[in-house]
Amino acid sequence: MFEPLAKCNVCKKEYTSMHVEVMPGTIVHVCQNCLEKAKTNFIWICMSCGKAYMRPKETVISRLRDPELKRAYMICEDMVIVQGIDACIECDPETIQAYMGSIQTAAHC
Ligand SMILES: [Zn+2]
Ligand SMILES: [Zn+2]
Repeated sequence: MFEPLAKCNVCKKEYTSMHVEVMPGTIVHVCQNCLEKAKTNFIWICMSCGKAYMRPKETVISRLRDPELKRAYMICEDMVIVQGIDACIECDPETIQAYMGSIQTAAHC
């Protein structure tokens, strides 16, 4: 279901027609403000409850231990990244550790 104008999935305040594909086939709406923030933050959106999480890219990258992963994220540093996740810390605390601790490879880059 795709709506041309919908509430921003990240801040849930602005109505916007801008959207990004966070997973193959999954489109979320992201307003201008949040897209700006996505330049310096990684944004994850929980596909179960719809909660959005933001983490500064610098912090995320500096915590990565895996050099390969780190390199992949450095490449993505200047890009706008909004990722969909299956569950968030509130839905499934264990799964989220896997996502945010040693985040999946950045497939969108
Ligand atoms: Zn927004
Ligand atoms: Zn959730």
